[in-house]
Amino acid sequence: MTGVSVAIDGPAGTGKSTVAREVARRLRLAYFDTGATYRVGTLWCMREGVDLANQDDVAAMVETMNVSMVLDPRNPRVILEDDDVTSLIRSDTVALTVSKVATNLEARAALGQWQRDVIAAEVAGGFSEGRGVVTEGRDITTVIAPDADVRILMTADEEVRVARRAGEGADAATVREAVLGRDKKDATVVNFHTAADGVITVDTTDLTIEEAVQAVMDLVIA
Ligand code: C5P
Repeated sequence: MTGVSVAIDGPAGTGKSTVAREVARRLRLAYFDTGATYRVGTLWCMREGVDLANQDDVAAMVETMNVSMVLDPRNPRVILEDDDVTSLIRSDTVALTVSKVATNLEARAALGQWQRDVIAAEVAGGFSEGRGVVTEGRDITTVIAPDADVRILMTADEEVRVARRAGEGADAATVREAVLGRDKKDATVVNFHTAADGVITVDTTDLTIEEAVQAVMDLVIA
């Protein structure tokens, strides 16, 4: 049996993490948040005192990182050196710094290979016992898993995306930077604003989470 591979890309605030996780939960698939791999790489460099502007040092550091991820959509976890950093990697400090790792092409290559290996392991076995995986990020539909069974680009109007994140607590300037500023930096190395050939766009601007989940479920079980 070969499991299903679902790839979902999109900018910050489109709801893709919530939707990807819920779809994985309903279909008993693994949930793989590739943004977490960049976030934990950033935290690791910060902890080890690496100058994030030094591209070679960052790339070398990311390669030595000892990380494991639990891909259970009911309780996804990120473990760095025996330390559960699932919450820590969501901090504003990491969000505002992560693009430095994401725009480092050598670090991207190393993390990208790791991501491909995780997806292949899930399609063949892994947490999902071969049922498959929902993977979300910025370049999954185009670079990491262009051959995924279902490929989706999730979009939403800029102001709606900012407003969604504003509801999560931080001050307005930080939120704008963590959504739009980060997108701008990330978009210098990956295209997650326009759908590649064969990628289906789901615009969540006017959708509730449940409607967005349903839209993706319909595509996966079609
Ligand atoms: O999805 P999330 O907001 O957690 O992603 C964190 C960061 O990881 C993004 O801002 C981007 O810099 C990077 N990223 C990436 N490619 C991916 C997933 C995330 O560059 N496939």
